[in-house]
Amino acid sequence: MDIVVIGIVVLVLLLVALAGFLVSRGRQTTRLADPPAARSTAAGSGTTTLERPPTRPDGDSIDIAPRPSTVAVPVEMPEPSASRMFRLRSRLARSQSSLGRGLLSVLSRERLTEDDWEEIEATLLGADVGVAATTEIVDRLRTQTRVIGAASADGLRELLTVELVNALDPDADRELRLASVDGHPAVVLVVGVNGSGKTTTCGKIARVLVGEGRSVLLGAADTFRAAAAEQLTTWGERVGVRTVRGPEGGDPASVAFDAVRQGAEAGVDVVVVDTAGRLHTKAGLMDELRKVKRVLEKRGPVAETLLVLDATTGQNGVVQARVFTEMVEISGVVLTKLDGTAKGGIVIAVQRELGLPVKLIGLGEGPDDLAPFDPVTFTDALLS
Ligand code: GDP
Repeated sequence: MDIVVIGIVVLVLLLVALAGFLVSRGRQTTRLADPPAARSTAAGSGTTTLERPPTRPDGDSIDIAPRPSTVAVPVEMPEPSASRMFRLRSRLARSQSSLGRGLLSVLSRERLTEDDWEEIEATLLGADVGVAATTEIVDRLRTQTRVIGAASADGLRELLTVELVNALDPDADRELRLASVDGHPAVVLVVGVNGSGKTTTCGKIARVLVGEGRSVLLGAADTFRAAAAEQLTTWGERVGVRTVRGPEGGDPASVAFDAVRQGAEAGVDVVVVDTAGRLHTKAGLMDELRKVKRVLEKRGPVAETLLVLDATTGQNGVVQARVFTEMVEISGVVLTKLDGTAKGGIVIAVQRELGLPVKLIGLGEGPDDLAPFDPVTFTDALLS
């Protein structure tokens, strides 16, 4: 009897153990079969956060209804360039003051020694005026100060103003040539190395022209940098100007040609063509730019070929400019980023050493930070 009872107890215990084993296996299977989302949600992963509607810092929900595929860009009416001069002047004065202040402080010393003249020379060279122009300016200043003797601060300022304005070639023709010939739009070809500010300058020029009441079309012939065409299109859209683009990596000359053809058909006043500037293959770039210009000239003359130079690259910019002048005939220079350098003397170097007129200056990344270059305003800002 006892044996029977013991046998039943052992059997019951075995059954209980077996049931426990099966239940634990069943739980494990369920967990492994959970869908991944449920698993990550349970684990508190980033998925949960992404699925929650975004909220503003004040706790309100943001409407995340799907956007229409084409968003209407409000068209802006840029201010005419003349009215920007005051703002640009003060910015120029801020970034260039060390040159003006440096020169004036040495010049106002009672008797100028050889060391003082060397200091003046070093200040001019340090501001990227270039050796030839520096020597010329210093020689003339020496003669003038000898003639006028001990001069007042105002007298010295005036003297320096005259010398700097003269060094900036005040009689150079700086007007953009934008006359259309036989109903053909004026073509402005914009060249320069990558990063110099070409695309930005094309956009800014389009704004200036629209502000002056001209109709404009943009050509995105920098087909090597995908972002360039996008960037140019955005600039254009802001002022209601259309951009002609080509396939990425396509032939820049055919995009340029197409832009001018479409511009002529639409009867616009000016077509501004952006180009690529990869200087690491100098020969390739030369051929490409020459081809762009040659192809454009099949339709009519190119009114302006503007070389964009980054003022912060200093004398290197002059070297770059020389390379470009060997490739195509440059009719004017746009000196960008003058807001970010105290080396405004590069304006003098570019003009004296290359004989190219600086026509426009870039003084910031803002849409209206482009101004016509004027030697008197520039010198005034330098010495203020
Ligand atoms: P690209 O490669 O020659 O077409 O050069 P981008 O037009 O793309 O310009 C390169 C960078 O220079 C951009 O970040 C521009 O915003 C900036 N840039 C262009 N012009 C100026 C300027 O006058 N002042 C400053 N501070 N930045 C500028």
